[in-house]
Amino acid sequence: MMTITYTVGSGLYVNMTNRCPNNCTFCIRNNGEGAYGSDSLWLDREPTEDEVFEAIVTAKPENYSELVFCGYGEPTERLDVLISVSRRVKEKYPDITIRVNTNGLSDLIAGRDTSADFAGAVDVISVSMNAASAEKYQEVCISKFGLEAYPAMLEFCKNVKHHVKKVMLSVVEGTISNEEVEICRKNAESVGVELRVREYIAP
Ligand code: SF4
Repeated sequence: MMTITYTVGSGLYVNMTNRCPNNCTFCIRNNGEGAYGSDSLWLDREPTEDEVFEAIVTAKPENYSELVFCGYGEPTERLDVLISVSRRVKEKYPDITIRVNTNGLSDLIAGRDTSADFAGAVDVISVSMNAASAEKYQEVCISKFGLEAYPAMLEFCKNVKHHVKKVMLSVVEGTISNEEVEICRKNAESVGVELRVREYIAP
């Protein structure tokens, strides 16, 4: 069975890919099969654009407060599909808020500045900052891009904030020290984005 959509609170979540350039030590991909009580989010194959769109329509997004591309992998690994599906959803459900939860590495994944792609398709982008420096980030996120990942994530935030309504950077409470949270806050401010300290949700 292929689980493309799942529910978290009042959000309808979309899972399109299990691929990711990182291998975070805390990733739910390393912690059992499901997420938040959903069926397995491991995809035997990646759903097509039409399959993703149809799964969203079937799940009745009008009953949810937002549609969230999140998944069990990095949604911007399939940036073209993400953008096309978002545009189709916006056309059919103009009132819905569309959010992407991302590691912010889409520029490195695509090998170009992807920030303008999100214009008119996505409303909110939530980027996991995870750490206060490139070195610390690499320790916890083990990115295939190495030390390039952290500055690229910040650069993406700086650029994409001109194309969507809201960009947030986030760290998870308790995973880093208070001093590091303050450094994260400064790093976020340096690119003009707000830092949100999230509560830890057990996988
Ligand atoms: S960026 Fe997200 S999907 Fe990728 S390894 Fe880290 S937690 Fe998992």
